[in-house]
Amino acid sequence: MEALAELDRSDLAEWLMEQEWSEFAVSLSARYERNGGLTEPQWRAAGKMYETCRARFQERLAQRRADVAAGTVTPARTGVDLSRLFDGTEADRLVLRAPEARTSLIVDRGQRRWDGWFFVRDGETEERLGSQRPGQTYTGTAEGALAWAVENRVEAFSLHGHATGHCGICSRPLSNPESVERGIGPICYGRIA
Ligand SMILES: [Zn+2]
Repeated sequence: MEALAELDRSDLAEWLMEQEWSEFAVSLSARYERNGGLTEPQWRAAGKMYETCRARFQERLAQRRADVAAGTVTPARTGVDLSRLFDGTEADRLVLRAPEARTSLIVDRGQRRWDGWFFVRDGETEERLGSQRPGQTYTGTAEGALAWAVENRVEAFSLHGHATGHCGICSRPLSNPESVERGIGPICYGRIA
């Protein structure tokens, strides 16, 4: 168990919970939660995954440092705070569109042990597009569209509402012409405008 000599098991379990991109890690975390531990082969598999990810991360970090030093890329921008999308709403999920965007983006607010997290998916393909950890900012590949949506959320929800004919925030049907025009129902609009 060389991998685990360096890393306490509860730390490894915590790390697994953060690997929401990996079905394997998600299933191991679920087992850990349910059984209060893992079997020896599962711990070994988890430790191996950690080592592989760490090695890849260090490779990428070294490459990135080299690129930044060589001036071929600029350092990452300040992140986007997805919690601002939800301010004033009671929604657990928001669907956004950016002008001329190919598809919508689904942003889910994490529940229970994921409280404080946000998860982003492509509205059409379901592809995972990153997440935001509690108290931090978004990390992922949809930063441009999300940055726009955070700054222009009424417009982003309106575009989604127009595309579906339902309220762009809570998905309830829209009946009155003013709401249909706006793509957002009166109650939701009152909360965010
Ligand atoms: Zn609504």
